[in-house]
Amino acid sequence: MRIATVVGNRPQFVKAAAVSRPLRARHDERLIHTGQHHDDALSAVFFRELDLPAPDVELALGGGTNLAQTSRMIAELEPLLADPAQRPDVVLVYGDTNTTLAGALVAADLGIPIAHVEAGMRSFDRRMPEERNRVVTDHLAQLLLVPTPTATRNLEREGLADLAVDVGDVMTDVTLHVHPRARERAAGWLAERDLVPGGFLLATAHRAGNVDEPERLAALVDVLIAAAGPERPLVLPLHPRTAARLREHGEDARLRAAPGVRLVEPVGPLDFATLLVAADGVLTDSGGVQKEAYLAGVRCVTLRDTTEWTETVQVGWNRLVDLNPQAALDALAQPVPSGERPPLFGDGRAGERVVAALEQRFAG
Ligand code: UDP
Repeated sequence: MRIATVVGNRPQFVKAAAVSRPLRARHDERLIHTGQHHDDALSAVFFRELDLPAPDVELALGGGTNLAQTSRMIAELEPLLADPAQRPDVVLVYGDTNTTLAGALVAADLGIPIAHVEAGMRSFDRRMPEERNRVVTDHLAQLLLVPTPTATRNLEREGLADLAVDVGDVMTDVTLHVHPRARERAAGWLAERDLVPGGFLLATAHRAGNVDEPERLAALVDVLIAAAGPERPLVLPLHPRTAARLREHGEDARLRAAPGVRLVEPVGPLDFATLLVAADGVLTDSGGVQKEAYLAGVRCVTLRDTTEWTETVQVGWNRLVDLNPQAALDALAQPVPSGERPPLFGDGRAGERVVAALEQRFAG
């Protein structure tokens, strides 16, 4: 089979890393990178450290509003996917970004079947661009590769159950590979940075709903400052979108001056995993990081009032505090649940199951 994979940003490189190896063992994959993220810290380092094959096509379509970016992607993807010499049997898209939506819209228009990895996730908040992207993509796709039973139930409600295959979560595949390496190097790596295992917090934040409006951004800064302290530093690898908004809205200096807050550039996946596995807790508005924290056995405080990964909340490892400083402090003061963590996100073989499902649905 000839498969065109369309990816463009950090979490998609992680997910594609789980699928690309088993896929290329048996099929012809053409990796198209839209360049939604294109600098080293958000792109190239993921290809290097996760052994993801270099893109066959690399565009540079980052920046701009959601609609402007998506429309530029559509315009550039159309000739690539329509080219009769390269026309794929399936277009494979991941997650919920502008790249996902653009890939799906172009494939649908060209009559090429679409397979969607991480289908069926819902926050039920249509103000989030990610929610709109994933709903539309699911309704255009012919194969819905779902990570959890919750995702299957969401698709049942939308009349899409016949297209769904529960393959487990592809991020678990990558985590099972990266976290042991992270644990091995953690003590030395942290000591060089003056951090003690279990003695610091890790934070990430970049959702539009948290950083674009000045009031929300100020509240985010309040939460981060409240959680950090000289006794418990908070390491914040700063997403470029967040860095830009902090400067624009004059919040940068307040955050930098706060005791215990350590702003750093975005880090690569191995360094991020090293920070994560050794952290006392994680504060995040990222979807992927909520799951990775659970898989690492690290408490997660989610800086949103909804989540797609509801299972992590139900089992007590994740708390939704939105941007409320006191709620964040209360969550961090809770003991972590005792006992084994149930395997909520599959067994680390989702990538192989994605390939098997593609073969079953589209080969021959
Ligand atoms: N990540 C990373 N370095 C960082 C921040 C995040 O490697 O400085 C990784 C993280 O481990 C996860 C992914 O990037 O695998 C999550 O990406 P992001 O938060 O951008 O996307 P989301 O999951 O919110 O869509």
